[in-house]
Amino acid sequence: MRQSFLFTKTRREAPSDETSKNAQLLIRAGYVHKEMAGVYSYLPLGLRVLNKITSIIREEMNAIGGQELVMTALQDKELWSRTDRWDDDKVDNWFKTKLASGGETGLAITHEEPLTRIMTAHVSSYRDLPIRAYQFQNKFRNEMRAKSGIMRGKEFLMKDLYSFDATQDAHDAFYTKAREAYVRVFKRAGIGEQTHVTFASGGIFSEFSEEFQTVSDAGEDLIYIDEKKGLAFNKEVLTDNVLAKFGVNRATLVEKKAIETGNIFHLGTRFSEQLGLTFKDEHGENKPVIMGSYGIGPTRLMGTIVEVLADEKGIVWPEEVAPFKMHLVSLAGSDEAVRAYADELYDDMQKAGIAVLYDDRDVRAGEKFADSDLLGMPWRVIVGKEALTSGALEVVNRATGEVEKKSRAAVLAL
Ligand code: ATP
Ligand code: MG
Repeated sequence: MRQSFLFTKTRREAPSDETSKNAQLLIRAGYVHKEMAGVYSYLPLGLRVLNKITSIIREEMNAIGGQELVMTALQDKELWSRTDRWDDDKVDNWFKTKLASGGETGLAITHEEPLTRIMTAHVSSYRDLPIRAYQFQNKFRNEMRAKSGIMRGKEFLMKDLYSFDATQDAHDAFYTKAREAYVRVFKRAGIGEQTHVTFASGGIFSEFSEEFQTVSDAGEDLIYIDEKKGLAFNKEVLTDNVLAKFGVNRATLVEKKAIETGNIFHLGTRFSEQLGLTFKDEHGENKPVIMGSYGIGPTRLMGTIVEVLADEKGIVWPEEVAPFKMHLVSLAGSDEAVRAYADELYDDMQKAGIAVLYDDRDVRAGEKFADSDLLGMPWRVIVGKEALTSGALEVVNRATGEVEKKSRAAVLAL
């Protein structure tokens, strides 16, 4: 994409009411637009990042047998009343509205209820199980706090997968596979090293759920890490009993602030019993389906990557989530020969299948470099006069700052 074509502009200042680093940088770089506190729109560059993140997650969910669907955001009051999650006394962050035709609806905070009901129309026998179904869908939560930028939106994207099994063993085996898939997602998204699988509270059907907590000072959670044993605990489960159970000594745990980027959960038969999702087993006996839920917030993940990897100059995208792999920066000015060289290199990059943002704008070199640092593409390729004489292109690695001269062929092979 030519930068002169991109309608978004970079800006020096973020809105004065925006305190989070992720939203400040993403707004300044033109990835997102702040509509109001905790409400953001995703502009072309931001959408490219989000699409990269969702592609990684989609691949990993499909690899463990996930089937993608998409459910409506509008929720049925009657259904949620059956699980006692409609009343504001029980769940305090619903957005609700009156229907013109009478009655009330709410915007989805999560989707256990509607998917469980959908499954009652499709599951009757053990032969129909297992099922793993997931979606990418906007969730709405009337969040009080709005100091974390896109990491805590009132409207945000969630990937939510739900598992339906006939036996506890089958559920447990899938849960383990889902955990491994999540580990791969965070690794591919470039924050694997900072992300800890963390024991958290589990509800009524299991002692623990597991959260994927990414260490960052911008985090709202506190976790306690046993580095030797490779274990981490959310503050809420850090009791003497739990420490004893894992043979962990409180004094050796390191306290860190962290961002909950994902959460996997044993649901047991809570929803299937309440909503009548049963199947006939091999002996013809009716049983409730055993469920699990597995959430990741792609928008929160995007904000987390910015928080964890950005430097004083701007955003640093890992290659797998970057909107473009390369930022081709032309210093042609009024030099037509350099411009022609840069244009041709841009064409060749596209032919080679390289995702490239081409800064073809007629602005000062200093401004181009500052914008390029802010935007954060993994590789910056600079085309100046030298390209015509010695054939050398200056290549800057955004993450390390390393600068190398490379030939045109070497750049195309990057
Ligand atoms: P938190 O405790 O931070 O409010 P949660 O435990 O309520 O989060 P879940 O219901 O487990 O969140 O949602 C699954 C995933 O969705 C979370 O792990 C997180 O990545 C993402 N998520 C939750 N709330 C938000 C939000 N307000 N904005 C962006 N992403 C969110
Ligand atoms: Mg959670």
